Amino acid sequence: MHNGPADVAQNRPAHHMPDGTFVNTDGKAISKSFKDLLRWRWSRKEPAPQHFDVIQPDPDVIAKPAITQITWLGHSAFLLQVKGKNILTDPHFSKRASPLSFLGPERIVEPPMTIEELPHIDAVVISHNHYDHLDEASLTELYSRQQDNPPLFLVPLGLKEELSGYGIDQVVELDWWEFHEYEGMTLTALPVKHWSQRTFFDRNKSLWAGWLIDIEDFRIFHTGDSGYSDDFRKIGEDYPGIDLATIPIGAYDPRWFMKDAHMSPEEAVQTFIDLKAEKAIGMHWGTFILTDEEMDEPPVRLAEALREKGIEASNFPVMGHGEIYQVTHLD
Ligand code: ZN
Ligand code: ZN
Repeated sequence: MHNGPADVAQNRPAHHMPDGTFVNTDGKAISKSFKDLLRWRWSRKEPAPQHFDVIQPDPDVIAKPAITQITWLGHSAFLLQVKGKNILTDPHFSKRASPLSFLGPERIVEPPMTIEELPHIDAVVISHNHYDHLDEASLTELYSRQQDNPPLFLVPLGLKEELSGYGIDQVVELDWWEFHEYEGMTLTALPVKHWSQRTFFDRNKSLWAGWLIDIEDFRIFHTGDSGYSDDFRKIGEDYPGIDLATIPIGAYDPRWFMKDAHMSPEEAVQTFIDLKAEKAIGMHWGTFILTDEEMDEPPVRLAEALREKGIEASNFPVMGHGEIYQVTHLD
């Protein structure tokens, strides 16, 4: 199908293709061929699992946060507690990041909390449909444990149907730059450079996004997965005053295969600079083995990249599994 005047007349956004798929803001889809995938898998030396300490978050601090705080639940999953609101990002509590219970990337580090141990959740944001970010079992449990008052699930365009299929009906799906106001929160879907796929037939048929969350005067940006792109400079300009950004620092090797979809730690530092965020936390590492870098390499390279740019390490730390980061300067 060609991109003709009819599409222009219908005001089709530039990232919506006529065939129903989505592309990045540079007009391109990330589509490595199956041949490239095999080339990577065949040449691959999978890194060894490593031990990471898991901290049990203090239940009293989780139940009654004195100030704004964020708890790392592993990978891209955070519990964000701001002004009495509890928000989860990309919740994943299952054994594997895979459609199959017996095959696919296995969790190396246990979640520091169970879903049962979480406080009442007001909202859940999901960045895209890859299995390490959208976990059916976690979402259905989060929904069913609050059956009388379920969280609001926010997903990028094209994913509402997926969640409906799980029996989850309190879902809002947003296109890039759209926002939704809910119980004193404003949640905005913003472009990042990535792709989507859950089955053989659905590549890029649902959108991927970073989430900007405003609660009173606190502004957080959850990047989700992204390659480095100009999107972050624009977000930093159009949505100033980001207090805290969660930025991926893992899943980058080999570069020839991963670069488009996953930033390196050095690019994560540039993303932090572009976003003009006050603080950032490194995520998307140390939980699953998805790619070829060693599990403990991302924070080492992050620290080095921060030093090179003259940025205090305390402005862009990584967290331990289950660690609670209290955002003291804001309260
Ligand atoms: Zn992804
Ligand atoms: Zn991911």
